[in-house]
This record gives sequence, C-alpha cells and structure tokens, in this order.
Amino acid sequence: ELTANQIAAGEVVERPASVVKELVENSLDAGASAIEINIYEGGLKSITVIDNGSGMSEEDAVLAFYRHATSKLASAEDLTNINTMGFRGEALPSIASIARVELKTRAQDSVSGIRLEISGGKTLSVGSAGCPPGTSVTVSDLFYNTPARLKHMQTASAEAARINELVNRLAMAKPEVSFRLRHNGRNVFYAPGSGSLLDAVAAVYGIKIARELIPLEEENALLKIYGYTSRPSVNRGNRKQQTLFINHRLVKSSIILRAIEEAYRTILPPGRYPLTILALAINPGKVDVNVHPAKLEVRVEQENEIAELIKESIKRALQANSL
Ligand code: ADP
Ligand code: MG
Repeated sequence: ELTANQIAAGEVVERPASVVKELVENSLDAGASAIEINIYEGGLKSITVIDNGSGMSEEDAVLAFYRHATSKLASAEDLTNINTMGFRGEALPSIASIARVELKTRAQDSVSGIRLEISGGKTLSVGSAGCPPGTSVTVSDLFYNTPARLKHMQTASAEAARINELVNRLAMAKPEVSFRLRHNGRNVFYAPGSGSLLDAVAAVYGIKIARELIPLEEENALLKIYGYTSRPSVNRGNRKQQTLFINHRLVKSSIILRAIEEAYRTILPPGRYPLTILALAINPGKVDVNVHPAKLEVRVEQENEIAELIKESIKRALQANSL
C-alpha cells in the first residue's frame, strides 16, 4: 500500500507546485470562498493551505488518507460528467507517502475540530483540536524519503515562482474565491475574490495592463468564450501570459494556443506573444478530464473546431478595436 502510494505520488506530485495544486483543488471542491497558501523555502520546507470550506468529520478525515477514498464519485456514470476538480482519491495518500502531513479540519456544523498527523504514509496521531470551520493542511519535508526526487528540485526561489504562477492562474480560474499567497511569511499575491475575472486579472498583471485589455464574449451551440486579450503593445517573448480554462479547469492545449497566436499573426512580430485569458464553457459531456492523474491535460472533442472559433472571435475583437 505504501509502495502503491509512492508510485502514484510519482505521477501526481512532481514538485511543490503539484502539492499546492492538489490541496487548492480540494479546497475549491469543498466550496471554499477564501484560500490562504503559506509556503516556506519554495514549498520544499513546508506548504500550508487553509480554507473556509465544508471541513470534514473525524471519520472522513481519517478516510481521506486511504487510496481511492474519494467522496466525489457517486457512480461510474459520474466519470463522464465530472464537475469537481478531484475525483481519483489519490492526492492525499500520495502526498502523505512522501512527506509529513498535518491536517486540521472542522466541519461547518461541528463544535470542535480534529487534528491528524501522518508521516511517510503512517498515521502518527489523531486527536481533537481547536480550529475554525474549514480545513488546513500542512505538508512538510516533501520528498524526505525519496531522495532521488529531491535531487530534481530547483532552487527555492524557482519553486516559489512556479507556485506563484500556478496560484495566479487558479485565482483567474475562480474569480469568486479570494486567494492569498505568502512566501517565507511575506505577501506575494492577493486576489480579492470579487467574482470579476477582470479583478483577478488585475491582481495578477496589475491594474494598468488590465485596463488596456480587450474583452471577449461569444456564445454558440458548441461553447461559450469569455475572457480578455491584449492590444499588440502588451506582448512578451514567451507564452506564459496565455491562460486557458475549460469549465473553470486550468488546461493546456497547444492547438488552442496556436490559434490565439494565429489571430495576432499580422499584428505581432514573430516570437512575440499576446496576453490572453480565455475561459471556455463547454458541455461537460464533451470534455474528457480523465486523461492524466495531474489532470492538466484535458482532452477536448472537436478541439480543432473550437480553436478555429477562438481564432475568429479574437480576430473580430481586434478588428472592432481597429487593430
Ligand atoms: P479527491 O480530491 O480526488 O477526492 P484527495 O486525495 O485529494 O482525493 O482527497 C480525498 C478526500 O478528502 C476528498 O474526496 C474529500 O472528501 C476530502 N478532502 C480533502 N481535502 C479537503 C478539504 N480541503 N476540505 C474538505 N474535504 C477535503
Ligand atoms: Mg483532490
């Protein structure tokens, strides 16, 4: 069982940012409206994610660390219609097999909370704890028992940069949730959770850039396109400013990225890329999310058709602004 968890961990947990992603997605699934992330030494020393979500009963908290103990799949049928982020029940047991984990949780309707300590897959302690409703998970000494993994980590500041970039994107994916990120006790990012995508974009890129963006909004039978794209004056030599969500899930799609670039072909020099944030809403039955445990590669039916629609939509928006 420990070995199975460590093998799964190899797939789910590549680096500190993967831990942050899994913990934050759990918080979102728990209906949190505020999420606080505190990392030390780029997350290599510790990562704490605190949420004000549903919390867990003692029974559920203990169960959460068993493999495939997900509370999110009611039936096999659900696999084709997944709206929650997690659904494999792999993240917590995987993380707990390669790190020291402290979980504090209190169900919203409960008078007291519980605290669990797990290290290298072994439960060290279970007890009651005074804590606010919601959940707090601290993951320390990541990869302490898998030194080969640890060797592959970059510097603390590089790992922190990856986490910051991830939290930025999650904040844009969920504008109704407030996010705070601290590194070594210092504030590095705050998104207010106002519900407006543009506010979240402003939190990430600054208010000046946000004000200059061109809104995108279009709907047809296949999908809804919503987001912002930049004037050619805002451009960079890398693709890091392109963010794509499908049904609030952060995804990577080289076909769609290429379509965005294609829309700018005549107005941006080669090697320069726009800032584009796209939130697509597609019928969940058409989105295959069961591709990879890390769930970043979502496969979409009719990807080429969707890419074409996005390209045309961006072109029209640019033309409407005389660009
Ligand atoms: P999954 O998210 O795929 O269900 P995880 O291993 O990430 O699997 O989590 C296991 C279970 O623990 C979840 O299904 C959920 O019931 C519970 N859980 C984990 N994190 C939280 C949280 N922050 N708030 C409430 N419940 C949580
Ligand atoms: Mg999960």
